[in-house]
This record gives sequence, structure tokens and C-alpha cells, in this order.
Amino acid sequence: TSYQASPKRYDSMTYNRSGKSGVLLPALSLGLWHNFGFVDAIQNARSVLRTAFDLGITHFDLANNYGPPYGSAEENFGTILKTDFKPYRDELFIATKAGYDMWPGPYGNLGSRKYLISSIDQSLKRMNLDYVDIFYHHRPDPDTPLEETMGALADIVRQGKALYAGISNYEAKEADKAAKILKDLNVPFILHQARYSMLDRWVEKDLLNTLKDNGVGCIAFSPLAQGMLTDKYLNGIPEGSRAAKDLTYLNTETVNNNIEKIQALNTIAKQRGQKLSQMAIAWILRQPQVASVLIGASSSSQLKENVKALDYLSFTDEELKLINDIL
Ligand code: NDP
Repeated sequence: TSYQASPKRYDSMTYNRSGKSGVLLPALSLGLWHNFGFVDAIQNARSVLRTAFDLGITHFDLANNYGPPYGSAEENFGTILKTDFKPYRDELFIATKAGYDMWPGPYGNLGSRKYLISSIDQSLKRMNLDYVDIFYHHRPDPDTPLEETMGALADIVRQGKALYAGISNYEAKEADKAAKILKDLNVPFILHQARYSMLDRWVEKDLLNTLKDNGVGCIAFSPLAQGMLTDKYLNGIPEGSRAAKDLTYLNTETVNNNIEKIQALNTIAKQRGQKLSQMAIAWILRQPQVASVLIGASSSSQLKENVKALDYLSFTDEELKLINDIL
């Protein structure tokens, strides 16, 4: 059936400015790392994307190698853009990236100009787009001069293949250096995409301050620690869950190592009258430098639950202290 976006889609979402840029991002964005590849059911992918947009989620995050197989999340997204979202292209903020393993040989990985420029061209073809809204270097490459990698981002923006540039997984010092280079090149560098959740607070040390000093926003990925900060694993590992099927990134051992913290956090969430997932999202949004929380979802109902985080964002000092003590 054909799709007509909900006329109420902008009624309840909050939009935050990314750093000092002109770009407003939805407080929650949707990532297509899992659940959108050829191994997944495209009908479910389509329904999750429709639900997201109907909830005011305008920002979708991809990368060249999301799938599996590599490239297939972009291809599926391209298909669904064509069937469902064509009239809404200018209401969408679409991201892709290059930096991890993508194709064989020396030019399909890391941070060379050769890799980045070929990769954005491939991504645009797979998604059938003229441009993406933001193109990221996905992770730092210590063996390529930062000037080369940032120069490639700059040229991609100048060629009109991306409107803005971003970086991901860079530590504070390298992020600062990247910001200075991009500033000299006059490139709009608006976002750093970093892992941030109650179970991984590394960005709090220096990164968020560095981004603030440079007028760059942060988008927080894996805010639910891949599902651990929800009620999903409270009573074991359900069949079909990420921990049951994706043994590389999340597995029984990781869940077991964190289960006591998860249960204690769940008690606080209950006292707040909230789901753990909602508290985990609200807790990240308390950071002014974070423009958006980048969630994943394997179903529309998860998305609906997560967006309700916006109904109750504030924390008392006592709650924050209790949470700190658990972490
Ligand atoms: P999350 O921490 O939000 O984990 C999402 C997973 O948690 C879902 O797929 C689902 O897993 C489970 N979940 C979500 N909501 C609920 C709920 N309400 N109840 C129960 N379970 C729930 O984020 P991801 O790790 O998926 O990362 C999000 C995005 O961030 C990625 O898609 C990608 O775009 C980006 N990212 C970027 C990286 C980078 O290097 N730049 C690295 C990693 C991610 P299940 O399948 O078990 O139902």
C-alpha cells in the first residue's frame, strides 16, 4: 500500500540545534546498522521507517557497510525512499559514512582520499540519491594524514555530494585537530557521532567540551547499549534478540556482566514511572552538547516506546546521584 506521511508528524518531536550550525535534528534519530539488510525482512524495515517519520524522526543514519551483506542497508533504504519517501526528500536528513572495512584490497577501508571518494559515489548509487545531507569519516585512521582525510571530506562537500561533513569515533584531541583543519577549509563540520550510554561514558571526559569549543554537535550512538538498557534482558536472553544472534557485538557474556546494573537502573526507572529505555535516552539528552540520540529498532513498537522518553526528561539531583552510584 502507498504511504502518506502523518499530518501530525511535527506535533510532538523536539528538534535540537547541532552545535552552532543551522541544522536542527530530532531528539531521537534512527540508525540502520541492524535490521535493514538483505538478511532482514524489507516489509518490517519499511514499517519501522514509516513509523519513525510519522513520529517526527527526520534523521536516518547509514554507512556504506551496514547490512549484512555490506551495502544492503543502503540499497534497501534506496528502495524504500523510492516507493515511500520520494515526496519527502527535503524533509529528511540522511547520513552515510566510510571508514571501516567495505571492499577487498587496500582501497576499501580506513581513511584515504581514494577510499572516501569512491565510497560516497557507491553509496549515492545504492540509495539512488544525488546527495546525502551529511557524510562522515567513520573512524580515525592513524596512518593517513588527517589533512588528506579531511581534504577528501571537503571536496565531497564542494562537489555537492554531501551538504555537511562529520566524523565518528575520534577522540577529543583528534576531533579538535579535525575541526581546525575543516575550519581552515571552510567546510561545515557539524556533527561528531560517538558511542554514549549509561554503560559507556567516555565522551564525558573531554570530548563533549572539545565539541562545544568548536561549535560542533554530538549525536550519541548505541544509547541503549544495543538493547541492554531496556527491559529486554531483565529475565534472560530472548530468542531473536541481538544478544542471541549477533555474537560479535553483543553476547550473553556482556549481558551477564551488566545485568546487576541493568536491574538496579530498572528500579529507578520504575520509580520515575518510566521504562528503562526511556530513562536511558532522557539521561543522555540532559547533555546540552548532544543534539540527538541515535537509536536502533527492530520493530515499530520499540520506536514508539522510545520516543515517549520525551514525555519526561528531567532528573532530580538525587536520581542523578543514585544512577552515578550504580554506574
Ligand atoms: P541502541 O543502543 O539503540 O540499540 C538498539 C537495539 O536495542 C534494537 O535494535 C533492539 O534490539 C533494542 N531495543 C531498542 N528499543 C527497544 C525497546 N524499547 N525495548 C526492547 N529492546 C529495544 O543502538 P544501536 O546499537 O542499534 O545503534 C544505533 C545506531 O547508531 C546504528 O543503527 C548506527 O546508525 C549507529 N552506530 C554507529 C556506530 C559508529 O561507529 N559510528 C557504531 C554503532 C552504531 P533487538 O534487535 O534485540 O530487538
